[in-house]
Formats: sequence, structure tokens, C-alpha cells
Amino acid sequence: MTEPHADGGRAQVLAADLTWTGAGFEAGVRVEIDAAGRIAALARRQPGAGDDAVGENLTRLPRRALLPGFVNAHSHAFQRGLRGLGETFPAAAGDFWSWREEMYALVARLYEERLYDLCLAAFREMRDAGITAVGEFHYLHHHDPDRLDFVFDEVVLAAAAAAPIRIVLLEVYYASGGIGRPLAGAQRRFATPSPDLYWRQMDHLAGRLAADGSQSLGAVAHSIRAATPAEIAALHAEARRRGLPFHMHVEEQRQEIDACRAAYGERPMALLLDGLEISDAFTAVHCTHTEPAHLERFVAAGGNVCVCPLTEANLGDGIPPLAAVAAARRRLCLGSDSNARISMLEEARWLEYAQRLAGERRGALRDDAGRVGPVLLAAATSGGARALGLDGGEIAAGRWADLVAVDLDHPSLAGAEADSLLDALLLGGADGALAASCVGGRWRQAGAQSGAQTDAQTGPEPAAANRPPRGEAG
Ligand code: ZN
Repeated sequence: MTEPHADGGRAQVLAADLTWTGAGFEAGVRVEIDAAGRIAALARRQPGAGDDAVGENLTRLPRRALLPGFVNAHSHAFQRGLRGLGETFPAAAGDFWSWREEMYALVARLYEERLYDLCLAAFREMRDAGITAVGEFHYLHHHDPDRLDFVFDEVVLAAAAAAPIRIVLLEVYYASGGIGRPLAGAQRRFATPSPDLYWRQMDHLAGRLAADGSQSLGAVAHSIRAATPAEIAALHAEARRRGLPFHMHVEEQRQEIDACRAAYGERPMALLLDGLEISDAFTAVHCTHTEPAHLERFVAAGGNVCVCPLTEANLGDGIPPLAAVAAARRRLCLGSDSNARISMLEEARWLEYAQRLAGERRGALRDDAGRVGPVLLAAATSGGARALGLDGGEIAAGRWADLVAVDLDHPSLAGAEADSLLDALLLGGADGALAASCVGGRWRQAGAQSGAQTDAQTGPEPAAANRPPRGEAG
């Protein structure tokens, strides 16, 4: 074990009834966490061996199963402020573009304190949903667009630190209000007028990240609507040079595809495939209307596909052609996007269910062994970590100790055994079964009203208290 970390971190060993180790849930596993908040090792207790290896750092987690913390690869936290709004539909006003007008009206009203409150609410709700890391696709930069102040960027970082949640600030380049059109109205708060200014702000932000390793940066071109192909290529090249993940909204809307073809003669994904060197550092968000042949090429090159099933359903976007491209199921990640609902369990099940409804067939995203659960879990964990460039998404040595403790006594999991627990949780589990989560080994009870964490020493449930299992958490 390393020495205690300057931020007060403390080495600990977790012994839950069950631990997800990649192939399945195992009993008798101890997760050793170092003082820097990373997993140092997994130790397996021999069956029948005495239970004498009790150290002062050992925390027993009875009736708990440990999963990797969920990774939310695509969020716009401020859009939490739209929940319940824009759900009344005057004649002919029920599409993505009418929703966008509601979103712009919210953007025009925001100021620092309100933005902070919305982000904090969204990030804490994510923690309650088992999400320990978020890729915040952040384009709302300026309080005063005339001054290009970028003050909102650090508001988001501060809210993430307070939640607390691990964050990859996906700083968005946004230069045009549509292909060939200047920014107008609320969009001016998104402005990054030149790649030069954008990278200067990235350099500034690099010096403003939390010192404990819980904050990092990624580069983004918002969409083909907001950046030209030349700008996208230049941004992507510089992101690669810096070793940063690169994200972009791709083919969420047919109108965007039509406008792109009219302007550039190609669909957005075709432009990317022909113009960029796609790798596992590239994440395309949505791909709702992507041609299967294009998707095939994209994932073969290593690209990640981020699907946001609840938002895509809420906005009436459509369903991406995942069942048609078998290789895509190994390159998936999930995002809560508009945060109209924050539940990674629901995102994961609707990733599969939308494909079932569209294809009139079950097991659309099954792996080679015919199992759906591991594919959905990977999308919710390791796939997101890959897309965000994080050492996370797995319970394995060297990864961040970002974990979720599942309550095995939760009513929604009654009847599940070790070999059916994953499917029971992903397809039928309530979020209340996610009793607590930790980021870098620091635990937070689900439903906690403040950012107060449980002491790192006691973990998600003090074993000594021998209290009755928690019921539905707030
Ligand atoms: Zn988005």
C-alpha cells in the first residue's frame, strides 16, 4: 500500500458478498484500494480458508455486490433544467427542432449560480443512479458572449467536484449556427470563433483541473452543423497530437444529413470516414440515421458509438442500426444526454429493447455466448471509459476505484442468484438497488441530500453496525 494521499485518501480493502470480475460475479474476492484511489489488487480467499486476514482497513459489505461504477459518456448537465418542460405540443411542433427552441430559451436565462445548481443536481442524481464518471459535452461557455468570457466552463468543473463525480470535460468547439450560418441569439453563448482561441481555453482549463486526478479534458466538434469539415479535421488532428479523446454528434437528425449532403455532397459519417483517421479515440454520439455500411467501417477502424436511448426516445430521433452491424456491439457506450431522465439501468435496457422493437427479435445485442447482459454492462462501464480515455469501467488492478454497491436484498432483485444477478439488475432492477457508489474509493450513499460522503474507512455500509438492509433509497 502507498502512503496516504495528500487529499486525505486512505487505503482500504473491500470484501463484498459478490464482486464483478469481468466474466461474472465471484464470491470471496477482496478489492484492495490504495490511498490514491486506485485498485491495487484483487485477492481471492481460498474456499474453506479461515477468515483471519482481517486488517484495520478491511470493510465487509454483507449483502452487497460490487460492480464497476457506470460511465456516462455523454451529458449536457444544464439541460436538467428542461425536465418537465417542452412536453406540451401545439400543432406541428413536436420534433427535435421545437425542443431545441425550448433549450435555447433555457440557455438565454442561465447565469453562473443557476448553472452551478443545475449541474450539481444532475451530477448528484447521476451518483444516485450508480454513475461515477461523466463525459460532460460542454458547449455553453459564456455568460457574456460579447466578451467570450468562458466563465461557465469552470462552473461545470466546480459542480463536478462538489457532487463529487469524476468528469471528463468535453470542451466543445462551436463556430457556426448551421452550415454556412453565423451564430444567432442564444447560440452566441456557445461561441468558439477560432481553433486558436479554443486551444488557448483548453490550455487554461488544463491548469484548472482538480489535483486528485478526478478531472480531465477531451476535445469536441459539436456537429457538422457547428464546424466545417476543415475545422473538424484540424481539431481532431490536434486532439490526437495531445492524446485527448475526441467526440462529436453524428447523424442524430435527418435534416442535418440532408443539409450536409447539400453543402458537401456527402453524409456526415462519410465525410468523417474519408477525411479523418478514425481510431478508438473517436466517439460518434447517436449515429441514429447512419448507414449500416458506414457504421461497419467506423467501428472496424476502432470508433466508439455513444447511444443515448432515453433522450433519443424523448426527442423522437429514431433508432440506430446496431443489430445490423455485429461488430458495433463491442464499441458501444451510453449517455444520459439531455438528462430528461437519469438512469443508466434504463439506458442499458433500452439500448437492447429499442433494437428488439425495431427488429421484432430478442437478443439483438447478444455476445458470442448469446448473452445480452455483458454487452449492456460493457456499454455502461468499460465502453464509456474507453470513449473518455479513463482508467475505469472495470474492477481490475490499476483502474480507478470507481464502484457501485448493489443491495442484494432490494425487492427488485428478489430471486436472483449470482449467475442471473446481472440480467436481473440490468433488465429488471430499480435504481434503488444501487445502494452506494464510490469515486476513487470515496463512498457516497445513494439519495444523500448533501455531498457528504461516508468515511472512506467505513465504506458504503458500516459492517459493525449490522443494521438491517436498506430499502428503497431516496
Ligand atoms: Zn448531445
